[in-house]
Amino acid sequence: MKKVRTVLGDVSSIDIENIMIHEHILFDISLPHTNKKNLSEISMKDRWQIDYLSNQNAENARQKNFTIALEELNYFREDGGKLIVDQSVFGLDRDAEGLAKLSKLSGVHIVASAGCYTEPYLPKSFLKKDFDDLVSHFIYEVNEGLDGSPVKAGIIGEIGCSWPITSFEVKALKAAAVAAKETGCALSVHPGRAPESCTQILDIVTSMDLNPNRVILCHMDRTFPNGDGIEKLLDTGANVEWDFFGIEQSYYWMGNVELPNDFSRLRLINKFSDAGYTDQILISHDICTKTRMRSFGGHGYSHIIRNIPELFKRLGFDVSLLKKLIHENPKNILAF
Ligand SMILES: [Zn+2]
Repeated sequence: MKKVRTVLGDVSSIDIENIMIHEHILFDISLPHTNKKNLSEISMKDRWQIDYLSNQNAENARQKNFTIALEELNYFREDGGKLIVDQSVFGLDRDAEGLAKLSKLSGVHIVASAGCYTEPYLPKSFLKKDFDDLVSHFIYEVNEGLDGSPVKAGIIGEIGCSWPITSFEVKALKAAAVAAKETGCALSVHPGRAPESCTQILDIVTSMDLNPNRVILCHMDRTFPNGDGIEKLLDTGANVEWDFFGIEQSYYWMGNVELPNDFSRLRLINKFSDAGYTDQILISHDICTKTRMRSFGGHGYSHIIRNIPELFKRLGFDVSLLKKLIHENPKNILAF
């Protein structure tokens, strides 16, 4: 029987549907050296502008409030959501025990993540780890527990890669690939902000003998905005993920990229599905700011469940594809 490793233990994945494979629930994505003191609350007057510049405001780039997180998960459950993968790795202030409590109280399955983010987010002590230390550390996080807790990770990543990639990030990615192979869990990778980053990542993980069909390449939306270059990744057997659903604005706060909107995401996804790659496509929102949460006037974790079926209809696409994208495919990749 296929099992998913959640924060409350291994569960059979048979009845689990409406899965959001890449989100953040308790997190801090502001860089460690940013000033986190004396930041003002997000007011209605400033909400739109803060959202527009998104994580440029450190207060918006973190959400550690337990009550708010529980409310957001309850909204997700009320809309039929069953499972969220919190890809907050080490460096993003993950809280495995907090996730376990939230899962118990909300009734939403949560999968926590092993691994580490890009180098600028990591303390010097962690950067000193050698390859073998990192391999055993990541395996321990999956098989024994995260950050001194008994809560186990059910996925490795999003492993952070910069562009150009740093030597520590290469080492961590190689270690994560070995740990994924040893434990049997999937490896999710946050690519650097350049199309070449994805090919480089696949070269690195396959050099460690990990099958690309266990690898998720995140953030297609900003790495290949018009879709060019994705087919050659799919041809390796790797999984690709459009995880910016709900972001529909011209200005991208992390780089000079013209992002797609939900319609153009679906057109690309449908095109690759028609070309035979349906099983390798994943979707999610990658919520990592407060203003994308319903408590702060945002779309929340169930935008895909609530609103995307209507977009499928308007485009004349078969809505059963959505079931593959948020039921079968995430279940298959999460299965041990
Ligand atoms: Zn993410």
